[in-house]
Amino acid sequence: MIGDNLAHIRAAVREAALRCGRNPDAIKIVAVSKHVAAARLIEAQVHGQTIFGENYLQEAAGKINQLHGPLEWHFIGHLQSNKAATAAELFQVIQTVDRLKIAAALNQHAGRLGKTLDVLVQVNVGREAQKSGVLPEDAAGLLRELRLLVHLRVRGLMTMPPLGREPEESRPWFRSLKQLSLQLTEEGLFYDNSAVELSMGLSGDFTVAIEEGATMIRIGTAIFGERPKYPTHDVVI
Ligand SMILES: *Cc1c(COP(=O)(O)O)cnc(C)c1O
Repeated sequence: MIGDNLAHIRAAVREAALRCGRNPDAIKIVAVSKHVAAARLIEAQVHGQTIFGENYLQEAAGKINQLHGPLEWHFIGHLQSNKAATAAELFQVIQTVDRLKIAAALNQHAGRLGKTLDVLVQVNVGREAQKSGVLPEDAAGLLRELRLLVHLRVRGLMTMPPLGREPEESRPWFRSLKQLSLQLTEEGLFYDNSAVELSMGLSGDFTVAIEEGATMIRIGTAIFGERPKYPTHDVVI
């Protein structure tokens, strides 16, 4: 079933990319595996999935230990600076950097581990009080500060826009993230300004996100099926 789901998503990604004249291979599928047991991640891996996104550190640690092979783990949850050491150790990419304090902590721990972390800056495009992310007008300032952190590579932007009823409702938010990335690119604020990543689009709206320039889509439900509605932070898998 996971194999079928992945095949459907890959076909939909391909179709959406070709429809708007983009290279389908330039779009990475991040399998969002929060609350999903390790055995089901392995099933996805067997079907060719190599990038996994996790929201909770402790839960992720258990699964990262159980999967082997050339995998890429992305942290997509809310990060506190007292957990930065664990995050820097477990993950290759941190998608949710939204303030200097957390970035500085990640940088320090990455340095200690002798590694360089790829990061995305999370932007709160919808200015929602309950959501993490830097406000769009503060993004340039934050990116200027992040340039000084030599153990981080700022690869691009990530967003989680306001939840709409229709996929089309996400389009203006995706478009505004793309616009912001172009402004920041013009200022040369990313690690590689010729390959800026945009992580946007979920199970319900990823084709719209691709049309608006997503290079990473974060898909949970459409791969693994429904998960428990409420986060249980320290589930033992
Ligand atoms: C859970 C989650 C997703 C996946 O959402 P689906 O609708 O299940 O595809 C993507 N991004 C983040 C940050 C999430 O927390």
